Amino acid sequence: MACRQFDQAADAINLPENLRDRTKYPRRCFAVSLPIQRDDGSVTVFEGYRVQHNLSTGPSKGGIRFHQSVTIGEVAALSMWMSWKCSLMGLPYGGAKGGVIVNPTQLSELELERLARRYMQELIPFIGPNTDVPAPDMGTNEKMMGWMMDTYSNHVGHIEPAIVTGKPISLGGSQGRREATGAGVAYLVKKYLEDLKIPVKNATVVIQGFGNVGSEAAVALEAYGAKIIAISDYTGGIYNPKGINIRKAQQYVASQKVLHNFDGGEPIENEELLELECTVLIPAALERVITPDNVRKIKCRILAEAANGPTTYQADKVLEERGDIEVIPDVLCNAGGVTVSYFEWLQNRQNYYWDKVEVMSKLFKILDKAKDSVEAQKRKFGFSRRLAAQTLGIQRVANAKQSRGLFP
Ligand code: NAD
Repeated sequence: MACRQFDQAADAINLPENLRDRTKYPRRCFAVSLPIQRDDGSVTVFEGYRVQHNLSTGPSKGGIRFHQSVTIGEVAALSMWMSWKCSLMGLPYGGAKGGVIVNPTQLSELELERLARRYMQELIPFIGPNTDVPAPDMGTNEKMMGWMMDTYSNHVGHIEPAIVTGKPISLGGSQGRREATGAGVAYLVKKYLEDLKIPVKNATVVIQGFGNVGSEAAVALEAYGAKIIAISDYTGGIYNPKGINIRKAQQYVASQKVLHNFDGGEPIENEELLELECTVLIPAALERVITPDNVRKIKCRILAEAANGPTTYQADKVLEERGDIEVIPDVLCNAGGVTVSYFEWLQNRQNYYWDKVEVMSKLFKILDKAKDSVEAQKRKFGFSRRLAAQTLGIQRVANAKQSRGLFP
């Protein structure tokens, strides 16, 4: 899917042949074995990956995913999207991504700590604050980033907070990082609602995935005045046309770990949820959930791609044909996370920390600029919004590669 998107974008901007493959293929891929001791004394070997897609424009940057369906192909695709995203946002980074094949809900806290530390240990020769800087993604969180930072710091013999972002504030994490991705999604949704002249107070919102990104997007959109009518996680969804109390849902998930049996509305299946009539649909869980099977049934005005790659290539073609849904493509929509990760890395390197107001105002300024550049590109070439965003991201990486030249 990522390769097809790249080929289409490269054709659209006539990217010279001798730059195409260099810009497309990952620079480095690592596969690592991760043996950890289980609480019962046995040993399990997990399989982990890290793909550094582009190192031409700065250290590579990207999250680490703990999920049972991780594959090296998925990690490579996610690393490509990170390259275009960082480039589109004007951040001095290339793209990367990591993953471990594991269902984190089936490991104890101690086992997760051993796995997170072991993964970092295996990657130490290949990453660093100037080489590759990981962050959380699905199935990982700030606590794990803290363990990884501690593992790296112990290895080098001094504290090195800039090795990962998305850390706890007490270890040099940034104010606003936890909220950043969801807050950025909500901010862009508000801006696009304004463009469509739909008052945010009249907007109804459906969100798939109630983890870091989905729940923070819900909090921010509720604060803007929108009504969140459905939310879900891997155990199923909750639907309430009168609006769900998001704080209560967050408190429920904090204590129960899952949304299952939350009494804020009626239960609903994840597939049904995606087809609910609403103003804004936000997939904030896995990729490839909007498919040729359901794309004709979705009934929203805005599709805000908080997850990476939630719309398949074929489904995207149908959305273009339909023309009645404004898509905020993933590389723009969820870029608030990596942008505040960049702020965190900057603050770590300067040892000078900003307050949340400063973080958020700088974030919104960068999102505004990226949105404006995407809209200008869309108008200038008559591209879809996704193609506009991707061509901008790809062109800037290709320009950097061209300027650097090829090592003899
Ligand atoms: P998370 O692990 O905190 O939350 C994921 C949520 O999705 C959980 O509520 C989980 O139960 C739910 N989920 C999993 N499988 C599901 C299924 N089959 N159906 C419905 N819900 C399901 O992860 P996150 O950090 O919120 O990431 C979510 C998405 O956002 C991912 O695609 C990730 O790549 C993307 N993203 C995350 C960040 C970030 O800063 N965390 C930044 C950019 C993009």
